[in-house]
Amino acid sequence: KNNLPTLLVTGGAGFIGANFVLQARKGKWGNIINLDKLTYASNLQNLAELKNDSGYTFVQGDISNYELVSYLLEKHQPDAVINFAAETHVDRSILTPLNFIQTNVVGTFQLLEASKTYWQKLNSEKQESFRFLHISTDEVYGSLNPTDTAFREDTPYAPNSPYAASKAGADHLVRSYYHTYNLPTLTTNCSNNYGPLQFPEKLIPLMILNALNDQPLPIYGDGQNIRDWLYVGDHCDAIYLVLKAGKIGESYNIGGLNEQTNLVVVNKICAILDELAPKNNFRYSDLITFIKDRPGHDRRYAIDCSKINQELGWKPQENFESGLLKTVQWYLNNSAWVESIFTGTYQNWIKQNYETR
Ligand code: NAD
Repeated sequence: KNNLPTLLVTGGAGFIGANFVLQARKGKWGNIINLDKLTYASNLQNLAELKNDSGYTFVQGDISNYELVSYLLEKHQPDAVINFAAETHVDRSILTPLNFIQTNVVGTFQLLEASKTYWQKLNSEKQESFRFLHISTDEVYGSLNPTDTAFREDTPYAPNSPYAASKAGADHLVRSYYHTYNLPTLTTNCSNNYGPLQFPEKLIPLMILNALNDQPLPIYGDGQNIRDWLYVGDHCDAIYLVLKAGKIGESYNIGGLNEQTNLVVVNKICAILDELAPKNNFRYSDLITFIKDRPGHDRRYAIDCSKINQELGWKPQENFESGLLKTVQWYLNNSAWVESIFTGTYQNWIKQNYETR
């Protein structure tokens, strides 16, 4: 056995989790046990290159399964638990909120309970170095007006969607396990991620793939909603830094310092595609279609990430233009991955949500 730490990662077959697992194995951050339920949003192909890697173990299972999580903790004796597992799509949370409560709230609770029991039995040295790192979102802070200052770690929680409320509930539980039981927890709240391996229901890959298939590019409302975009590789570096050096019991905001309206993002994608995959009868931006706004649609998110910058020396490295170019190129170069995503379940969901609007 090597002397790297062992990290129990949950949700490691999803977008950010898989990027984290790949980066962790490349950067020798640790041995990874990946517990993932394999919901529609996951894709084990994301991790195919780790098939023969002895420092990587995959387990299919649910974070709500206390017995399974306890068994894995006892068996692998991890030095940290990193919780990426969640239901993550706001539109789905409007249609089927119960799944979000079940995984994001109850699941995080069961993971905390099992981790607490495991942690309490560790020797004092291992107890001190153990970390429970919970990955959360800036959506817990609610919505900003154009002139409001960006979200800070002490901004009051004001979630507006069932997704954001379920993540807020989980964040509060994590906080309480530190204050009540001294479990060494950390929480990160980050802005919208983009990059390779993202499931094509989220804005950027949805637009890339619809455009390539000559489908309309659906934009909510007037397209002026503002999001801060963070390249997924930068996010994974920040998570690792918080794991190693973050102050226990604290939360850290992670942002891309990159606010963009949805319309600008989609136009940038179209311009890249006009260069990389030109069509001679139209420009991709001709496909832009404005659709009825999402209920409770937050107007603007912006992250003040000066705490992680000042305390841990992190700032985003990727520039949006080059990050977006790399992302579009990745989807163009990975058509087999894209094909495999278009399963019956996903197709049905798209039908219900876009074609009948
Ligand atoms: P994702 O939807 O791509 O992946 C989620 C993964 O969790 C999937 O592999 C899924 O199978 C797994 N999962 C779901 N329920 C589970 C359960 N009960 N037990 C075990 N595994 C389960 O999500 P993502 O975009 O990679 O997000 C990861 C985390 O980061 C989430 O907690 C999310 O709230 C947070 N986050 C994401 C973003 C973003 O822009 N994507 C922004 C801020 C925060």
